[in-house]
Amino acid sequence: MKKALGLFALIVLIGTLFCQDRAKEAAKTEVWEPVPEKVTPGDQTAPPSDAIILFDGTDLSAWRDKDGNTPKWKLEDGAMTVVKDGGSIFTRQGFGDCQLHVEFRIPVEKSGKGQDKGNSGVFLQNRYEVQVLDSYENETYVNGQAGAIYKQYIPMVNACRPPGEWQSYDIIFTAPRFNEDKTLKTPGYMTVLHNGVLIHNRAELKGNTSWSGQPKYEFHSMEEPIQLQDHSHPVSYRNIWLREL
Ligand code: MG
Repeated sequence: MKKALGLFALIVLIGTLFCQDRAKEAAKTEVWEPVPEKVTPGDQTAPPSDAIILFDGTDLSAWRDKDGNTPKWKLEDGAMTVVKDGGSIFTRQGFGDCQLHVEFRIPVEKSGKGQDKGNSGVFLQNRYEVQVLDSYENETYVNGQAGAIYKQYIPMVNACRPPGEWQSYDIIFTAPRFNEDKTLKTPGYMTVLHNGVLIHNRAELKGNTSWSGQPKYEFHSMEEPIQLQDHSHPVSYRNIWLREL
């Protein structure tokens, strides 16, 4: 009986030591620092606490026109809208790697088709365009439809809402890197959600957005503005915010 108890105790001891060893081994791959910063998530699409607010519906102070002046875009009902000869607009601040949230509304227009319907665009670093277009029921070349990384990548799905309704893009952007001699070191990447639906998963950018000809990289700084395109259609924007990565 004593022998059996002794054997049992020995088994328990070995078992305990074995478990302790396993725990020690497991602890080697635990990482405790740096502790990720606490961020309060926004309600639905409201900006999180660490976002840079680029447009909250009240003023255009984060934006300029091509000459550096306050944009002529119409500010109304918490939105800003492209106006005739208003020109494209640019953030005053430049950005590199970032998470960008943009909401947009395509106008309800009876006329126009293809690229001539609700056309605008969100350009990262002033060069890399995610197309804004009415692609709800409007045929065009698919690498130029809404959500396309223009002339580079077709969106995985068409997640468009009808014209007149607010839509969103959430873009995770990794800026390209350049060598000291200004040649490309690493390409840029984009992940895009359209109305919460993934349409590009870390797509490797081929260069500057180009309407004609193949895209090519051209050296630029790490901090370049976000551009919203005036393509002669009264597209509206609201609730624009960005998190630098
Ligand atoms: Mg466009």
